[in-house]
Amino acid sequence: MEKRVFTKDMASIKTAEVIECPDCAFEFSVIHEQSETNGLYSCPNCQEDNLEADNYHLKEENKRLREALEFYAEQENWKRHNTSEPYSLDGGYEAPTWEPSAIEFDEGKVAHQALQGGKIK
Ligand SMILES: [Zn+2]
Repeated sequence: MEKRVFTKDMASIKTAEVIECPDCAFEFSVIHEQSETNGLYSCPNCQEDNLEADNYHLKEENKRLREALEFYAEQENWKRHNTSEPYSLDGGYEAPTWEPSAIEFDEGKVAHQALQGGKIK
């Protein structure tokens, strides 16, 4: 269907009050009023900025949590490595000594850093 075109004379003119956002100077119609009773407005331009900022922070948090999760998901990080052979040079059995796994050594530090918003080392 063809878009209908019209002149100002054909349309009914309504007074559209335009206000300017005190934060970003963006001008918008008062139909963006939040509620008719309290006279509050929210700037569509600032709202968009907030969404972008929120999105950015959520992505950053997601990345941080994912990095921490990857540390605990890595099987190699759960493995203990023996630092001595179970047999001594003269052939006798000796209990091997173990080095704690990366996760035992970590004691949850990576998780705490991720939850507190710190950088994963
Ligand atoms: Zn604004």
